[in-house]
Amino acid sequence: MIRIALIGCTGSIGRQTADIVRRYPEKFSFSALACGRDGAALEALCAEFMPAAALCGEGSFTPPAGVTKLAKGEEARLFEDCDVAFIAAGGFAGLRYTLLAAEAGKKIALANKESLVCGGELVMRAVRERGIDLVPVDSEHSALFQCLAFRRDAAFSRLVLTASGGPFYRFTQAELARVTAADALRHPTWNMGAKITIDSATLLNKGYEVIEAKWLYETEFDKIGAVVHPESIVHSLVYFEDGAALAQLGYPDMRVPIQLALTYPERLPCEKPLDLPALGKLTFLPFPAERFPCFSLAVEAGRAGGTLPTVLNAAAEEAVHAFLGGRITFPMIAETIGCALGAFPRAEAESYPQLAETDAAARRFAAQYISSHGK
Ligand code: MG
Repeated sequence: MIRIALIGCTGSIGRQTADIVRRYPEKFSFSALACGRDGAALEALCAEFMPAAALCGEGSFTPPAGVTKLAKGEEARLFEDCDVAFIAAGGFAGLRYTLLAAEAGKKIALANKESLVCGGELVMRAVRERGIDLVPVDSEHSALFQCLAFRRDAAFSRLVLTASGGPFYRFTQAELARVTAADALRHPTWNMGAKITIDSATLLNKGYEVIEAKWLYETEFDKIGAVVHPESIVHSLVYFEDGAALAQLGYPDMRVPIQLALTYPERLPCEKPLDLPALGKLTFLPFPAERFPCFSLAVEAGRAGGTLPTVLNAAAEEAVHAFLGGRITFPMIAETIGCALGAFPRAEAESYPQLAETDAAARRFAAQYISSHGK
């Protein structure tokens, strides 16, 4: 029985993780559940799975008898009884949980991008020092992990991330200036939360994934590339010294990488093996970095490292929020991020409190920029 502490249990990845546990009750259980603010959903999950402990960051909830209600400040206790810390919380908030899980010496299944984007130095230091098993959940990084035979230190010559291209791949600059939040939320292949769906439309998400790959596979930015693959069947590829390339294929369904992160190298049976003749052909297209500046802004911030990826992420969270609320245009997401990156000097990443301070300052900057330049 694998006991899971699931952080971010009410979000898209969290709910799909609950599906896996529901499906294999003899294999998995929840030792702890935590969410940001949806207390009602947390209550329902507690009643169903009866974890030892539960925590709701902002909202209120009443757990059933037998479930210990943890208060803010007691987050470290979420990891006391688990075998795996599953970090599915969204945004910068996830970093703190990843660091706490690493401090507790637990295996980490990582679905929170910001942990490595913002806190790569801190997380990898803790992972190395404590010998933590850090397993990627994101479909691209799971694909790379599989192609590397479940070794994060395996030799390769290049990593290539696939991208659906988002809903606007063929749009001109003029068309991009007119797109709405509703247009951007119509993702062609993956069904995800709102923030990451917008990040897929701006290609910021692919920039984040380049940074994550750099940390996960301890490599250089020059050895990581991206290609557009609209069908989202090939989830990423690894090139080797002799010219061979390995790819991992599957239907776009996050439940596969979620369960693999929990059980690897063991695999669980799947409902729907790939039907190649039904797919017909697969398409690969050049990655349009020049029309989607968020991608290059992310990679540049990743190369600079230190506190700058935290500035990038904070500005992006504010800008995407404003775009979803109809307060700024699509191109202004990149503009806000670019201005924030230009306004903050780089410092070495030293601690979580320092990054949290940077995060707050960059959010204030971005909010100010949006209110003076927005609609
Ligand atoms: Mg992805």
